[in-house]
Amino acid sequence: MKPIKGDLQTMKEMNRAAILRLFHRKGTLTRVEIAKLAHLTPTTVSSQVDELIREGFIDELGKTDTTTVGRKAVQLEITRSKGYVIVIGLGGQSFTCALVNFHGEIVHVDVVPSMHGNDAVRRYLSEAIPRLMKQSGIAELARIKGISIVSPGIIDEQSGTIKLSRGLQLSEFSVQAHLADVYDCVIEVVNDMNASVFAEYYYGLNAAYRNVIYVSVEEGIGAGIIINEQIYAGSNGAAGEIGHTIVDAGGMLCKCGNRGCIETVLTMPYMLQRAQLAAREAAVAAGASASGSAGVEAGAGVDVVLPQHFDEVLALYEQGAEWLQPMMHQAAQVMSQLMATIYNFMSPEKLIIGGWPSRSDTFMQEVKRRLDAFPFPTETGSSRFVFKSVEQHQILAGAATWLLQDVFGGVHFSQRYS
Ligand SMILES: [Zn+2]
Repeated sequence: MKPIKGDLQTMKEMNRAAILRLFHRKGTLTRVEIAKLAHLTPTTVSSQVDELIREGFIDELGKTDTTTVGRKAVQLEITRSKGYVIVIGLGGQSFTCALVNFHGEIVHVDVVPSMHGNDAVRRYLSEAIPRLMKQSGIAELARIKGISIVSPGIIDEQSGTIKLSRGLQLSEFSVQAHLADVYDCVIEVVNDMNASVFAEYYYGLNAAYRNVIYVSVEEGIGAGIIINEQIYAGSNGAAGEIGHTIVDAGGMLCKCGNRGCIETVLTMPYMLQRAQLAAREAAVAAGASASGSAGVEAGAGVDVVLPQHFDEVLALYEQGAEWLQPMMHQAAQVMSQLMATIYNFMSPEKLIIGGWPSRSDTFMQEVKRRLDAFPFPTETGSSRFVFKSVEQHQILAGAATWLLQDVFGGVHFSQRYS
């Protein structure tokens, strides 16, 4: 299935991809409209469209009036029922196997609890796809044009290998090779942050920008990068792995063995630990005594609550808890430095913020104040950030859209980077 290298083939692929991208954005189109919008000759459009109809990618709809040539023009649309792709999301809580039509619409979903380890996940993948097809009433394997696996961890997207996922206990797991034994279609393995940034770019921002970066801060810190409308995964799929950048020399011990990694300042597990420490110190300073896990007893009229979950930390901060201020100031400082570094280094049109910072207005106001004080060469940095807007299920739809671009373009994922 590999495309023949050469200028003509490349040009043909580019035209084909351009036409299918247009369909993605516009819905229905006539041949005349395609020629105009894609800046292609009518002959090129005609031969490309005929081929796409033959291969079962495009359907001819009814005829419609057109004023440009004074005769009936045929409306064309990407098929809704002739071909599909399958997207499998390997999440920490559950595995989702979704059948997606060529319009990027999820038409059937099968969800099971997460499994762990190479053997269990390999077994799951072998069973999940036939089960989904059976449930959806699709008998012919030929109608499945692509499969995408979305996984957390370090993914070598060129070889389709999950190098390491601690949460799922996967290591050197060759997903692509495993599936390619059975399925003769485009097979991709995508990092979950890359699928997320593509979904944010495509659905959240309506693909109105060419360069966007998504930073999510929750249990860990991850970043996804879109450059020129393409996911940038970096060599070995390690782009965006910013969590263990040291920002607080000699600071808190990180799980990686270093001290003061950005994760120790900004992520929820470490912030909860710091908040508990700060609560105890505040209680001691106020003359109160700690009362185990139930809370810190009030003393001398000072009420210090020992938070048990990160959401409590955030709620106490929003209520203005004084004793939380030093750690939250430090977090805001580090967050704004991170964002300023991203602006200056990559100059994205939009920086999307996800995770807990997007749930705290007070925190992001503080970050914004600090960002506005940075000397940016162009417009103020704070005007370029937006919050995450895409829901979990849309991440799979994003992965499907990314996969469909490759299926339609006839380009294998690895060739994006070669
Ligand atoms: Zn670290």
